Amino acid sequence: MRLALREAEQAPAHEDVPIGAVVVRDGELLAAAHNERELRQDPTAHAEILAVREAARAVGSWRVLDAAIYVTLEPCAMCAGAIVLRACGAARVRRDRSEGGRLRQRARCDRRGSPEPSPAGRR
Ligand SMILES: [Zn+2]
Repeated sequence: MRLALREAEQAPAHEDVPIGAVVVRDGELLAAAHNERELRQDPTAHAEILAVREAARAVGSWRVLDAAIYVTLEPCAMCAGAIVLRACGAARVRRDRSEGGRLRQRARCDRRGSPEPSPAGRR
């Protein structure tokens, strides 16, 4: 999450909203990105989309299985879809609050490509 926050800090340099995302698998950093909508003049250049694309390139496949994505803000519908359907096949998202009140997101993919059930009472 520290890396994602560090990524987010780079976005305001080009007048983008400070959101960062990193993709990690087996302790290895596959991708790190921050919002670049203003920089690229691309409405889809959200941190999560850029990180997912970079992770796919890093592994040489659109399926980035068994990876976790850390995002500094709750993903929008587009990014959530990309994380679940394009990057992972399936994802489990866990949220909680860090000390600064920021949401911490974690999506973990399973090997089978099917959603893991959420524990009762948790989302
Ligand atoms: Zn988004």
